[in-house]
Amino acid sequence: MKSRTEAVIIGTMNLGEADKIITFFSLDRGRLRGVARNARKSFRRFGAGLELFTHCRLHLFEREHQDLLRIESAEILTQRFSITEDLERAAAGAMMLELVRELAPEGERNPNAFLVVNHILNLLDAGEDPLFLLRIFQIRFLSLLGYQPKLDACMSCGCAPDRKMIFHGLKGGVLCSSCLVSSGSEDPTLSAGAIGFYYQALRMDLDKILRLKPSAEILRELDKAFASHTVHILGKQLKSACFLSTVCS
Ligand SMILES: [Zn+2]
Repeated sequence: MKSRTEAVIIGTMNLGEADKIITFFSLDRGRLRGVARNARKSFRRFGAGLELFTHCRLHLFEREHQDLLRIESAEILTQRFSITEDLERAAAGAMMLELVRELAPEGERNPNAFLVVNHILNLLDAGEDPLFLLRIFQIRFLSLLGYQPKLDACMSCGCAPDRKMIFHGLKGGVLCSSCLVSSGSEDPTLSAGAIGFYYQALRMDLDKILRLKPSAEILRELDKAFASHTVHILGKQLKSACFLSTVCS
């Protein structure tokens, strides 16, 4: 059966002499993997359409009961060369793609998540602040996949977050200082300003998102909370988090 879909290339791996295994996040069917036969030799069918970050239209062929579908050709819709030209942009972009590979369920359609991925990669390619975009990406993408942390009230007593709250990674939300029984490790804290920024970034139209100007302190607080949140969702550290911290230190 033949089909085609709009997609963003999120992973690529060489296979044998000339083939490639491509992981992509598609508008119609979410995250999928396919083999592109002769991809390293056939410029006519693929061009640069299978490079990481590229937004393309993929022509697919699949048989029932076959694990891997086949990518017959790729048409480029948006090429994103400038992401890999700068270390900080490349590191932020790598973390976005790793989040999609790790969190998007295989074969599950999620058009809103696709639009967020595509839109934020466009902004990254256009040279907007990579670290700011990465935080927006985490806030929006995780929420669309059902991993939104609960920050609008203490998860135990329900009090409003109008003072410093403690982020509890295991529970995926905040507790006030009266309700927290310390886990012994140092839990990240979130100020009312950081929580306010989170909900603005979550709801704001993506076209206007660059108007938000959070302080460096707010971003640091959210980074720590999201690092803890992601580790609890995945049960491990993201590989690209290490690369990012090396680049940004
Ligand atoms: Zn409480």
